[in-house]
Amino acid sequence: MSRRSRPRSAWSEVVARGRVAGAACPDCGRFSDRVHDRYQRRLKDLPLVDQGSVIRLTVRRFICGSADYQRRTFAEPFSRLAAPHARFTTRMVTAARSSTASTTTCSTASG
Ligand SMILES: [Zn+2]
Repeated sequence: MSRRSRPRSAWSEVVARGRVAGAACPDCGRFSDRVHDRYQRRLKDLPLVDQGSVIRLTVRRFICGSADYQRRTFAEPFSRLAAPHARFTTRMVTAARSSTASTTTCSTASG
């Protein structure tokens, strides 16, 4: 009797990207929808039943509309999903914080 066991990957990956047309420049507040390029971030999310969960987030870089500085670009913000340089989603951080209350957080230390 042979039973094929499914290869189990340790992580399930979810692909995500922003749905907004553009974003406001963090410096001058001007709205821009001119996409400069895209890059990918990997965010660890709350684990599923028996495997971890990773969000592969496509982040767009927009070109600021202001001509004051030379082609300044800024990354699309995902403030509700994760902090700008975080490697974990906000809800993952919140869950980890509440389960291990004594752990010191370092979410704002690097940047
Ligand atoms: Zn700007």
